Amino acid sequence: MRIERHRRRFFGKSRESAKCSILNPVVSKIPRKLVRIEGNGPDDGNPLLFGLDAESLAARMAAVGEPAWRGRQLAEAIYRQRVVELSEITTLPKALQQRLTAEGWQVGRPKIVQVFQSKDGTERYLVHCEGEYALTVETVWMPEGDDGESGDGTDPSDESAKRHQQATLCVSSQVGCAVNCQFCLTAKLGLQRNLTAGEIAGQVLTVFDRQCVEVGRDRVNLVFMGMGEPFLNYDNFMAAVRLLVREAGLSPQRMTVSTSGIVPGIERFAVEPPEFRPKLAISLNAPNDQIRSEIMPINRKWPIQTVVDAVRLVKLRPRERITFEYVLLGGVTDRPEQAAEVARLIRRTGLPAKVNLIAWNPGSGIAYATPQPEAVEAFRSTLMAAGIPAYLRKPRGRDIYAACGQLKRTVEG
Ligand code: SF4
Repeated sequence: MRIERHRRRFFGKSRESAKCSILNPVVSKIPRKLVRIEGNGPDDGNPLLFGLDAESLAARMAAVGEPAWRGRQLAEAIYRQRVVELSEITTLPKALQQRLTAEGWQVGRPKIVQVFQSKDGTERYLVHCEGEYALTVETVWMPEGDDGESGDGTDPSDESAKRHQQATLCVSSQVGCAVNCQFCLTAKLGLQRNLTAGEIAGQVLTVFDRQCVEVGRDRVNLVFMGMGEPFLNYDNFMAAVRLLVREAGLSPQRMTVSTSGIVPGIERFAVEPPEFRPKLAISLNAPNDQIRSEIMPINRKWPIQTVVDAVRLVKLRPRERITFEYVLLGGVTDRPEQAAEVARLIRRTGLPAKVNLIAWNPGSGIAYATPQPEAVEAFRSTLMAAGIPAYLRKPRGRDIYAACGQLKRTVEG
């Protein structure tokens, strides 16, 4: 019974939202390598405090006979002070710490278990997630960003923001992915499971600790563009955003979520309150439906126009733009006439938009080619000439399989 409850917690929403036939075959698998963690946790079977918001923590404290304000103390310690052991939460009396520990409670924040360092300074982490089904997920720290999501209107001459002002953290929302983009190594894993809100938010605070990031002083861009499709794990993804904003104090305006075009997810996202809504990026990658359906099978379910119609529902903040991500595949999507077609497509949308170009990063077993630098530059120039801001995302951490589309928990890097 307890296993089934956890299975629903980890898999439930994804299964329901993955009704399209493109997604079903992989979503329905339960990974063979999942490891069950034994423990004497609390009665509801979830001994992890990390991932619960202040209100839920208060309810937990009340359930064990403690005043509800203990929940606020716990939230402050876990998310603001980033304490990882119950015994180190100084606002809790020793006796209470010991009692909670004896009853099986733990903070349970995900931990970095392996680090891969690139010669360009990028770090890729395998992050171990606690819980009944323990496993690792990938997170990437780019100390100088990748020129993709730093343009948020903040003043680069602001002295107080010098430290980490360009850093970008790429966060995963699922282990593996069901969307099956043909150019992406993560797709090779299939979907193994959804991450919980705590596992998504935990990647951020764990890396912040390693990089000594101080929230409020340092400004780091978060991009939800790691492993997985965030909008196929919508509830947990947005719960993680709320934890990061409300409990940890991060700004949603320094967060960007990228979707392959999951229309029901975009429609839900459009009505999120602005104080908890990250910026939106659409992974476009092709100039028309024919090519997009070949390289992104999800396009057969939700073609470009349907996606654009859903994006129009998002009420943008002043100066906010929709980002269109475009992976350039040599000889497939990088031709001059295709650049002109993309420019026309984006102008037709009427959306305030910019384009992030990504020269395809090689992955073993994927038969595409990295485009020539001249083709990339020509593509960008065509977009710019059409009045569309276009940026080339620098390939970060290619040598450690950390670049865009390369996240497959590769350990031989
Ligand atoms: S590009 Fe993103 S959505 Fe597509 S398979 Fe890879 S991780 Fe999934």
